[in-house]
Amino acid sequence: MVKYDPASLKADEFINHREILETLKYADENKDNTALIEEILEKARPVKNGRGCTCRGLSHREASVLLACEDPVIREKIYSIADEIKQAFYGNRIVMFAPLYLSNYCVNGCLYCPYHLKNKHIPRKKLSQDEIKKEVIALQDMGHKRLAIEAGEDPVNNPIEYILDSIKTIYSIHHKNGDIRRVNVNIAATTVENYRKLKDAGIGTYILFQETYHKESYLKLHPTGPKHDYDYHTEAMDRAMEGGIDDVGLGVLFGLEMYRYEFAGLIMHAEHLEAVHGVGPHTISVPRVKKADDIDPGQFDNGISDDTFAHITACIRLAVPYTGMIISTRESREVRDKLLKLGVSQISGGSRTSVGGYAEDERPHDTEQFDVSDQRPLDEVVSWLMENDHIPSFCTACYREGRTGDRFMSLCKNGQIQNCCHPNALMTLAEYLEDYASAETKEQGYKMIERELQKIPNEKTRGLAAEHIEEIKNSNRRDFRF
Ligand code: SAM
Repeated sequence: MVKYDPASLKADEFINHREILETLKYADENKDNTALIEEILEKARPVKNGRGCTCRGLSHREASVLLACEDPVIREKIYSIADEIKQAFYGNRIVMFAPLYLSNYCVNGCLYCPYHLKNKHIPRKKLSQDEIKKEVIALQDMGHKRLAIEAGEDPVNNPIEYILDSIKTIYSIHHKNGDIRRVNVNIAATTVENYRKLKDAGIGTYILFQETYHKESYLKLHPTGPKHDYDYHTEAMDRAMEGGIDDVGLGVLFGLEMYRYEFAGLIMHAEHLEAVHGVGPHTISVPRVKKADDIDPGQFDNGISDDTFAHITACIRLAVPYTGMIISTRESREVRDKLLKLGVSQISGGSRTSVGGYAEDERPHDTEQFDVSDQRPLDEVVSWLMENDHIPSFCTACYREGRTGDRFMSLCKNGQIQNCCHPNALMTLAEYLEDYASAETKEQGYKMIERELQKIPNEKTRGLAAEHIEEIKNSNRRDFRF
């Protein structure tokens, strides 16, 4: 029998099927145990210390009890603690990013993805370096500073050299006052050597969705291609960290398997990274399967309602309080509105999920990876965030100042965020307002900046941030950061 060991490097041992089944049983047995639930909620609450706040997080078993609980009063408590944690560690900032699809060539057979090898009618496209340049200029002209590059797995068409060249091209483009300052990478599981190359190319986060932690389902959902290897895929983050990448992003594609199983697996994966590498995931994404070219989400049995989705998101927030949470334009404005109050700290805006989509005037659909629900332009998303008292942040300072992995986490924990990330968010928002915003968004944005500057506790930092914002207004100087 395979034993459960969070510190093991073997997929079956750190994501242990038996432990997940026992966790689900424990959660069912305790879902109405009010005393235990109150204890768990108490443990999850942020506690003020001398300089800032700390949070203990929850184990996969504790968090699974909260997820099993159906009592609406307890759910409201979970939601309110999720928001408290988000405010304590991330304030009211929401980091902005956009995906950039480089190539939809793929040799895998993933049943939920329209890029699967057997899809013979979808046009296959791979951007040349010149086309990447056009995409990046279009993204810079929208105001983006942070990208997540996406590509199918194809060793012939999309070898690592292609990805590395593309990253180099992206970082080299400076159009008007624009530049891309952080490139996150979402490509298939690869070798330690390739992860080292990605690290040397200056990537931010390496993102890889597990899709499902349920091995049997995983093997069925990935019937062919290199992605079929569950262990290789599940152990990818350990290889990434061995290759020197500090910031890794986890995710589950909700809808494929039973959500409570996935949730337990996801939190166990975070515990594993903490146990082995001393630092948990930098981000967790919560995508749901969407309609796409030849994909009908209805063909999978485990679709989840918006309410369940909210419940899962809030429980992740309580379990891993220091991890950023990402929600993409797969979700509608309404769903995003709700999740922003439950701990999400990063969203995409103005996204196009087709290869070469940004350089086109009209949104193309022919090579799209999935239907985009939130189709608003970035300016509208920025304005909507501010209307709801969130600061849209285009900041990329942490990783460029070497604050990655546990160094980022300790910044979070010792309360320096308010003197660092907060002014950085305001300065990058000012850049957006000066260079890209509509007149209304600009007016709204400067009002927000004026209010928010007062919240910077350190007087010197506050003064400097205000000075830099004046410089951004009155000159072409950009990229100030603490
Ligand atoms: N090819 C890489 C891999 O295999 O991990 C990653 C890039 S893929 C373009 C990014 C993610 O899109 C996948 O990991 C999957 O979770 C998600 N995805 C695929 N099909 C989807 C669909 N129909 N709806 C929503 N998300 C989907």
